[in-house]
Amino acid sequence: MSASASSPSSSSDTGLWHERAQALLAEGLVDGRASIGGQRTAAVSGETFVGRSPIDGRRLGEVARCQGADVDLAVRHARHAVDDGRWSAKAPAVRKRILQRWAELIVQHKDELALLETLDMGKPIRHSLSVDVPAAARCIAWYAEAIDKVYDQVAPTPAGSLALVQREPVGVVGAIVPWNYPLIMAAWKLGPALAAGNSVVLKPSEKSPLTALRLADLALKAGLPAGVLQVLPGFGHEAGEALALHMDVDALAFTGSTRVGRHMLDCASRSNLKRVYNELGGKSAFIVFDDAEDVARAARAAASGIFFNQGESCNAPSRLLVHAAVADEVIAEVLAQVPRYLPDDPLDAHTEMGAVVDEAQLRSVLGHIEAGQREGATLLAGGTRAHAETGGFYVTPTVFDDVSPQMRIALEEIFGPVLSVIRFQDEAEAIEIANGTPYGLQATLWSGQIDRALRVARALKAGTVHVNQFDEDDMTVPFGGVKQSGNGRDKSLHALDKYTELKTTWIRVQAA
Ligand code: NAD
Repeated sequence: MSASASSPSSSSDTGLWHERAQALLAEGLVDGRASIGGQRTAAVSGETFVGRSPIDGRRLGEVARCQGADVDLAVRHARHAVDDGRWSAKAPAVRKRILQRWAELIVQHKDELALLETLDMGKPIRHSLSVDVPAAARCIAWYAEAIDKVYDQVAPTPAGSLALVQREPVGVVGAIVPWNYPLIMAAWKLGPALAAGNSVVLKPSEKSPLTALRLADLALKAGLPAGVLQVLPGFGHEAGEALALHMDVDALAFTGSTRVGRHMLDCASRSNLKRVYNELGGKSAFIVFDDAEDVARAARAAASGIFFNQGESCNAPSRLLVHAAVADEVIAEVLAQVPRYLPDDPLDAHTEMGAVVDEAQLRSVLGHIEAGQREGATLLAGGTRAHAETGGFYVTPTVFDDVSPQMRIALEEIFGPVLSVIRFQDEAEAIEIANGTPYGLQATLWSGQIDRALRVARALKAGTVHVNQFDEDDMTVPFGGVKQSGNGRDKSLHALDKYTELKTTWIRVQAA
């Protein structure tokens, strides 16, 4: 493990990324100022906070601490842009070309964006490069391509009248996003909201604000008119709260924890009843039946699902439900995967698991691991902090067996590399356990029987169910949850519903 810039590992790629990181920081190229009205600007108060890397605690730079006054200013710019039509009234084909250019610029800046993403939130550089940056660009490009192919409707009314059913932009969209996929979460909001003609005020997480700010620079460079997109770094209880309570924000697209999502609804009810779309937490079940055709493959998919992104994925399959008859075989294969995911230097091009986002998250994950041990689960692997000498926050891939559905590690979202194995005896019990949390984001099942697969998929209370695979993903397919995992859908044409209002226009048609 060599997370410090002064001790690059033998890999030349690793040395290269360390050199680039050092150059970026030494030259003071990290710009943490807000983006408002087409300008990079300090917070109105002049206050800042220090951005630090979870890789080794190194200082990344000063970040503007935006608060209520900045939100007021940003919303005023956004409203002005809506009212004068500089974006909202542009033909969809014109919006398309600008958004396409933006997506191209994101790809052109992939090395810089990937490096910032890794430094800011600790994920492996190989994933920032191969997953996060391309997915963000693809999302913007996809909505660009879609927006001049979406038609409105003429209702089947009686002769003598004509009723147009049209979609209009909602106006000013507030978007609040978390830190686990900063670029992708921002793109999932910005792509459809901007394509539909809205103005947006985006608040990235205080734990990973840097790439969202660069996205705003690139959007301006691509030709997005000033004032259409503002990015305000700051804390949730300050900038986030002010945005959620703002009387001139028409819709709030929130991704984050269920606790804060609940508060977003409260803010809307205490202010202007703005629409709130919540994309919240999860505790996804991954069920392996004894008739699964390849249980070893299922086990590998479960391990990759829970350990990818340090376990900091809303849809991570954190509960592995295994039929008692195949449990030992599945667990043995999961354990065989553990060495591959041992955390290492995120700037090493071979690393599969990096650092968790900060010390608070590290403490929270370790606290859950302690709770699992206290409540009687059997720790089979991991359970410890790693590489503390770097000053970074690393957790070893952790597997618990003998977990019962009532334990905290079976019910609460841990958001770290911790897998809870629960054994079951029959299908009904598996469904009951799978549905037995407040969450309903995703579920996965492995079975060789099509009847069972369809029956169980129907019974699972989740926004998405995977059958005999885990990681299929496409922009054409909606993503979101039920129950306390939220109500909105990101991705696909369905996401446009969140950012448009239905407008009906009745027209009297004179009889000949
Ligand atoms: P969080 O709820 O703590 O914070 C999310 C965002 O809300 C941040 O920008 C934060 O600053 C802001 N915020 C916090 N308090 C606020 C307040 N009082 N008012 C307004 N804004 C406030 O979540 P997190 O720790 O950043 O992210 C992890 C959570 O996000 C997990 O629960 C995860 O499952 C969820 N998540 C869900 C999805 C999905 O699509 N369903 C995707 C990614 C992450």
